[in-house]
Amino acid sequence: MKVAIYPGSFDPITNGHLDIIKRSLSLFDKIIVLVSFNPNKKYKFDVETKVNMIKETLIEEGISEDKVKVDSFSGLTVEYAKKNNATCLIRGLRVVSDFEYEWSLNAANNYIDPSIEMVFLMARKETSFISSSSINEMHDNGVDVSNLVPKAVLKYLK
Ligand code: ADP
Repeated sequence: MKVAIYPGSFDPITNGHLDIIKRSLSLFDKIIVLVSFNPNKKYKFDVETKVNMIKETLIEEGISEDKVKVDSFSGLTVEYAKKNNATCLIRGLRVVSDFEYEWSLNAANNYIDPSIEMVFLMARKETSFISSSSINEMHDNGVDVSNLVPKAVLKYLK
């Protein structure tokens, strides 16, 4: 069974993240969405809330826990992958600036454990402008984001 980890901040999960999850299911038997905690970053939501938003989104989408599991972790993602028999880490790519960040992340992960491959999926044009930070900023300024995030997220934003 091919297992992949999709790690990220998911602060909160957006339709862009959801698109990557769904498309990953055509490549892997099981995805673990891993809410990672970076002590250097400031988040809007706590880890538990972010996990709950993702779980509720998956229920809304009719995606079973056998296919997509949600977990959180504050250590090295590659270590988590090894412990959970995952062979790949999935990441999404939107703009060129994503590439620069992902390039060094990939290099660091290869240094730690070259047996874990990173797999990059290009954002679809419909969702490529969506980021968690833009969602939070738009919502805080009164913009309707209901077409950009899963329904489950809307009630947490309010
Ligand atoms: P991180 O802080 O680890 O970058 P994010 O939650 O911002 O966490 O993103 C997690 C992953 O999802 C990253 O690889 C990011 O590029 C990807 N991603 C985020 N938004 C989108 C989107 N709209 N389309 C495709 N991929 C996305």
